[in-house]
Amino acid sequence: MARTPVVDQQACISCNLCVDLVPEVFRLNADGVAEVHNATGAPEDKIQDAIDNCPVNCIAWED
Ligand code: SF4
Repeated sequence: MARTPVVDQQACISCNLCVDLVPEVFRLNADGVAEVHNATGAPEDKIQDAIDNCPVNCIAWED
């Protein structure tokens, strides 16, 4: 089964990088913080790229 990314919204600084990299999976919500809107919208390596590049490391794979 595909893994699911999760965003720690308390830690997100709304830099938009994950949205720029993988808009199929991430978007900013009404509060301006990132959320996952389609967990399986992109290949895992693209999601991993967002995880690796988030400046505050607040995206992770769900346990
Ligand atoms: Fe938030 Fe990280 Fe996405 Fe930036 S890359 S918007 S800090 S989750």
